[in-house]
Amino acid sequence: MLEAKAEGADVRILYSPLEAVQLAKENPDKEVIFFAVGFETTAPANALSIVHADKMGVSNYSILASHVLVPPAMEAILSDKENQIDAFLAAGHACTIMGMEEYYPVVEKYKTPVVITGFEPVDLLQGILMAIQQLEKGEYKLENQYTRYVQREGNRMAKQTMEEVFAISDRMWRGIGTIPQSGYEVNEKYKQYNSRVKFNLDLPVAPENPECISGDIMKGLKKPIQCPNFGTKCKPEHPLGAPMVSSEGACAAYYHYSSATK
Ligand code: SF4
Repeated sequence: MLEAKAEGADVRILYSPLEAVQLAKENPDKEVIFFAVGFETTAPANALSIVHADKMGVSNYSILASHVLVPPAMEAILSDKENQIDAFLAAGHACTIMGMEEYYPVVEKYKTPVVITGFEPVDLLQGILMAIQQLEKGEYKLENQYTRYVQREGNRMAKQTMEEVFAISDRMWRGIGTIPQSGYEVNEKYKQYNSRVKFNLDLPVAPENPECISGDIMKGLKKPIQCPNFGTKCKPEHPLGAPMVSSEGACAAYYHYSSATK
């Protein structure tokens, strides 16, 4: 996107999709496309932007949805024949929206402990402790470490907004491939706000760098420091794969914080 911006495209970084709707309203002669990425955490605000645009009659706004869902990805990893995952820390922010219900079947089906965990260092330590305690007792259950935010039913209004606007669709995951029913796409009712439909887009799949082993990283089969390109050919300024792009990515996190890079 930044490269496109450097070549003259009008690409802007916004704090909220509602700003994009406002931008569309103020520029009726332009088409505003919001690149809607993220897990269940960012999906409600992006869905709300469509409801908002629809209510205000802003027809020059659409989103390019690239939302991904956590439980199908966990299932894809757990059902992989090379799976080495003993327990999961489930992302507390996604569960703050979605609640806990959809994780019970995953725990039961794969007999794997799942601990919904927050993001402060003490949260993570407690989540790891809870997972280890289950493993030592030979148990598998869903536990909620992040009780100060995560309710069993999640955020009902956020879920209703997503159900109003999105349909569940297959999604391509970098390094893993297509995982069935693992993403959100704008539904039929709001298709005029779906950039893919509106502009008849057939976007090419971005090629994977053959030197990147991000699939093994994301499946937990290898650590970033086991990648021969880690910290050499691949750095946050020149990422070869998705896990080195975002600061939340496993490779970028290792690059910034691992003692191996000090
Ligand atoms: S260090 Fe870079 S090349 Fe290696 S797996 Fe991570 S993103 Fe891919």
